[in-house]
Amino acid sequence: MFKVLDSAVPIACWSCSIGHNDSTLFCPHCSKIQPPPGGDYFSVFGLEPRLGLDLPALEHEFHRLSRKVHPDRFARAGENERQWSLADTALLNDAYRTLKDPLHRTEYLLKLEGAEIGPDLSAESAAADGKDRKDPSRVPADLLEEVFELNMQLEEMRMARKMGETDAGLQPSLEQAKRRFDGLLVEVDQNLRIQWQVWDEGDAAARKKAEKTMVGLLDRRRYLSNLVRDVTETLGA
Ligand SMILES: [Zn+2]
Repeated sequence: MFKVLDSAVPIACWSCSIGHNDSTLFCPHCSKIQPPPGGDYFSVFGLEPRLGLDLPALEHEFHRLSRKVHPDRFARAGENERQWSLADTALLNDAYRTLKDPLHRTEYLLKLEGAEIGPDLSAESAAADGKDRKDPSRVPADLLEEVFELNMQLEEMRMARKMGETDAGLQPSLEQAKRRFDGLLVEVDQNLRIQWQVWDEGDAAARKKAEKTMVGLLDRRRYLSNLVRDVTETLGA
């Protein structure tokens, strides 16, 4: 029987056979490298899932662990250990990239908690969202009128450009709209941070509520970023 030292899923070290939780890159007993852990990205850094992170500490831990799992250090090790150092390095990079970015971290934690969230926030998927933006049911209710107005102006601007005309009034009006939507984005980010704190400090019920609010905020954020990108592209064309 293995000695279980932690609450998470225990696995036996391949080298010393002592059980340890499935979230560590190195055996806490014999210090040998382990296969990629099965826990979440937070546990790779020895963290509980949370949204407010000490980023300098995370970066420090990332560099420390990266040096420890670096494939160069396993060049003369056995085949398994060499493979694990590659796989652990890849996992560490993914985990760090995800957790250091506030939006990716929020999205990741919400997914961990089983929340249903919209398409991802990356630029590659943004083009696909173009259609959705024209769908009135996707427009945040409080922005319906403004978005309708903005889309008309964007259309006008594109038409004018196509005809080689310049509409002196349109440019400042679009620039003003861009500033307004940029401001709304800042507001969304502030609200997200408030919900981070609610989630980090709240009980189960408070967390569920915060998750729902954050899913809505991420949707709104995605919508607004696409809108701002559209205006910027049209203005810069
Ligand atoms: Zn061990």
